[in-house]
Formats: sequence, C-alpha cells, structure tokens
Amino acid sequence: MSNKEIAYAFDELANLMDLHEEEDFRTRSYRNAYLNLRKLDRPLAEMSDAEIKDIKGVGPAIAGKIRELLSGGKMAALEKYRAQTPPGVVEMLDVNGFGPKKVRVVWQEMGIETIGELWYACNENRLVEYKGFGLKTQADLKQKLEYYLRSKDKLHLDAADEVADFVGARLTGALRGAFVSPVGELRRRCPVVERLELLVGYNGELDPVFDGQALTLEKEENSAYYARLENNTPVIIHRCLAEEFGSKMFKLTGSAAFIDTFVKAAPELNFKGMRIEQEVFEKAGMSWIAPELREPEYPDIVEHARQGKLPALITEQDIRGILHVHTTWSDGLHTLREMCEYVRNLGYNYIGITDHSQSAFYANGLKPDRVLAQMAEIDALNAEMAPFRIYKGIESDILNDGSLDYSDDLLAQFDFVIASVHSNLKMSREKATERIVRAVENPYTTILGHPTGRLLLSREGYPLDWDAVFDACARHGVSIELNANPYRLDIDWTLIPEALKRGIKISINPDAHSKDGVHDIRYGVMVARKGGLEAETCFNAAELPIFKR
Ligand SMILES: [Zn+2]
Ligand SMILES: [Zn+2]
Repeated sequence: MSNKEIAYAFDELANLMDLHEEEDFRTRSYRNAYLNLRKLDRPLAEMSDAEIKDIKGVGPAIAGKIRELLSGGKMAALEKYRAQTPPGVVEMLDVNGFGPKKVRVVWQEMGIETIGELWYACNENRLVEYKGFGLKTQADLKQKLEYYLRSKDKLHLDAADEVADFVGARLTGALRGAFVSPVGELRRRCPVVERLELLVGYNGELDPVFDGQALTLEKEENSAYYARLENNTPVIIHRCLAEEFGSKMFKLTGSAAFIDTFVKAAPELNFKGMRIEQEVFEKAGMSWIAPELREPEYPDIVEHARQGKLPALITEQDIRGILHVHTTWSDGLHTLREMCEYVRNLGYNYIGITDHSQSAFYANGLKPDRVLAQMAEIDALNAEMAPFRIYKGIESDILNDGSLDYSDDLLAQFDFVIASVHSNLKMSREKATERIVRAVENPYTTILGHPTGRLLLSREGYPLDWDAVFDACARHGVSIELNANPYRLDIDWTLIPEALKRGIKISINPDAHSKDGVHDIRYGVMVARKGGLEAETCFNAAELPIFKR
C-alpha cells in the first residue's frame, strides 16, 4: 500500500466519523494524520513501528492502524463505519466540496441514499427546506453532482498509464509470446481517459490473466474483454491474432473521424492482416502518423502525411531545463539545494525556482525579505554548481485586478516571473479575460502559469476569451505554460496550434512540489505532442532559456 492510499484511508475514516457525529477531537486527529502522511517522502512500508510512531501527528493508536493497513490492506475502524453507511452515501463524500455535515442532513433528514436521488432532489428544489441549504447552495451542489457523474470512471493520464503498465505486465507474464500495446485514448495521450483499452496479439485463450482478484472479468463481447481491477478501475482488453496485431492496433487507436478520413484517402487499400502498424501507412503511401495526432481536430493530417509534411513532435529528450519548481521556501517538500541537485543529476542544463509569492499565505508565500534571502542562497549555489544554472523566479499570484504581487523594484530582480491565478477562481469570461490580459501586459511577466486554473475531473477552469489572451501574449512576448501535472495539463492541447500560429512559445513545466514531481514533465510532453509542439516552439527546449529582459 502506498503512502497516498494510507493517507486517504484516514481521510475517509475522518469523513465517515463526522458523518456519524463522533467526537470532534478524534476526527481531527485522523484528519491531521491524513495531512501529515501525505507529505511524507519515505514509504511507510519501509519504516519500523518506532519510526512510524515518531511521525508528526501519529501516536501509538494511529501507528497501529497504519500497521493494520500495511499488513492486510484493511483497517477495522474504517470497515466498521463503512458497514454502517449505505454505499451511495459513502460515495457522496467523494463529491468535491460536499462535506460530511451536509451529507448527514441529506441522508438522515431527507432519507436520500444515492447520488442520482440527490441530483433529482436538487432538481425539484427539495433541499432549500433544510438547514444549511439555500437556493444558491442547492444550485451549486447540483452543478457539482453533474460534474461528478460526468467524471466517474474516468482516469487521469498518469493513472491510466499506471493501470496499463500493470495490466500489460500481467498479459505478457501470463501469455507467452503475446504482443501488448495500449490503444484508443491512452495511446492517443488524451488528458482524460474515459475508456482504458489495451490490445493483445495472442493465438490462444486469455483466461489465465483473470484471477477474480487483481483482475476480474465481467463480460466478453466480440473479442473484447471487459474487466475490473481490485480498486474498481474498468479496463477493456481487445484480443486479436498475433499476425494481425498491426492492423488492429491501427484500427483501435485512431478516433472515428481519423479512421474515416484515412479509409477515404486510400479506398483501394486492404489493411487487414498486417503484423506491424507501420505497414498500414506504408501500403497507403504515407508517413506514419503519431497516434497523438489521430484526432478530429486535425482533419488534414492524412493529407499532410501523404505530402510528407508532418510536424517533428517534441520528445522528452528535447527538454533542456526545468522551470516552475517549488521548494521548502514555500510549499515544496524538498529544499532548494535538493531540488537543484536532483534536476542537475537528471542531466538538465538549468532549473528555474518559482516559490509562491506573498499573497499565497496558505502556501507560505515569500515576503520581500525572504525573496532576497532566497536570491542570496541561489547566488551561492550557482557559484558552486556551474555550469548548471539556477534561475531566480517566482510564481507570482495574479491579484483580483490583474496586478502582480510585488513592487516593480522587486519584480525587476527576478530572472523570470510566472504569473498565475490561485484565488477567486469563479469568474465570468469577461472578468477572467480582463484579469489575465492585464497580468500578461505587466512588463515583468515571462510566462502565464496554468492559464485556466482547471483541475481535470475535479474543477472546471474559468472561461477565457482566448483571442484576447493570445493577442496579449504575442504582443508582449509572454510564453504560455503547459502545466505538466496530470491534474492540470493546462493549457489544453486543443489551443496550442492557435498559440503557435501567433508565434507564442509553450513552456512545459512540471510545477514540481517535490523531487518526484519533476518527472511529471513526461505527461506534459505527451500532451504537448498532441498540440503539435516541436522542440523549436518549446520555451524550455532551448539550451539556455531566453527570458525577455
Ligand atoms: Zn500555481
Ligand atoms: Zn506552482
């Protein structure tokens, strides 16, 4: 069990206890454990009982529960509360921004036990009669429920990737000589994977793969096996003969619109029975098209492949430096030195440190005197670590009126500034656009950070007039971030072609809050490729970054 899973068990326990109106001090201690365990950078599974007991916020009782989870995957206290609560009510606790106190009213006073019923009750204005629910809360909740229902069973790109690795390893392990590949949305690197699909080329039965534990088979239909992992994640495994693996891979990867265009472009071609996918493109007389581009957003891609005019998509190896990194100066897990050494040892040329600015009090944002102290530490590290370069940056909050968070004098001392919105995210299109454009116009802004503030599957971003935002970026030489965190992947890939057309560079930034976080760059690159980004148009693929001042 990972630290994250253990932490979430305590979060669930605290929520369920609140729901059952247990004493505050007990739930508080579990909630505390959740917060502290999440931040831990050593796997609990590798720690001794004594070490676990010593963790901040963990006493003997909580340590015992952690041990229970580590040894059997279950916690008796949690199971007890789960058993006393209808499954639909437990699920309500997963709806973002719907706390246990309100869930209790819904369950105990209104007698509602499923998400569907609750949505319907909002629809009929039944909630407004109850304490703590006004018209506005009800409208808000209805929206949240709709969002939740839409996102259910969908996966972030990193989770989909992990599941595919796990299932892929099972398939190749159990079936000798099988070919395995992700297909569909995962192979196309869609930021959210709604259907997780793998293809296995194998001339035999698939049965040995399903054991009813790690992987349960639910149904079989036209050579497709619908299965679920232990944690309930749905997976679809397509099966074909080894000798038609390439043809099937082609067919199952592209969007319907892409396959349609392809077939129309090569009507005489019979692309059945090909062992590798490359052959399909060769026979059709065109270059191989990267799966990321096989989308309806690229109606001309087949034509371009015929003319040999495909983009040279960026790869992870093209990235030369890592920008947007947090340290213990604000809300990062590792020190400035640790982050710099880590990034240098990965082989990058440079790092850009961007802790939070002073308005981000919840993230220990830097007051001006601490900015100067951090700059002095960076100077010393630069002297020590050359030729590796450490750039002095800041992730400056964009305030409500679009201004940045420090005086011009102080802003002028940074090598670069990432301007990001972190507060008051509920804005009209007009207000949001005005705020962002004003931040972009600030002469000290280098990069616009996570431009819409969205959290995939959790929160929709604010709407923007992209025409106005792109115009401002192009006019002021401001680059746009593709935040590589799999929850953000913001700017959305569909907008990248238009940004590139206007000469705007895209910076693929991990927004790393720990050493591990740096590796998110991988997901950023996947999605950047989808947007047609090439090394030349990527801000941090330059040997050294060219900041505009
Ligand atoms: Zn941020
Ligand atoms: Zn950040």
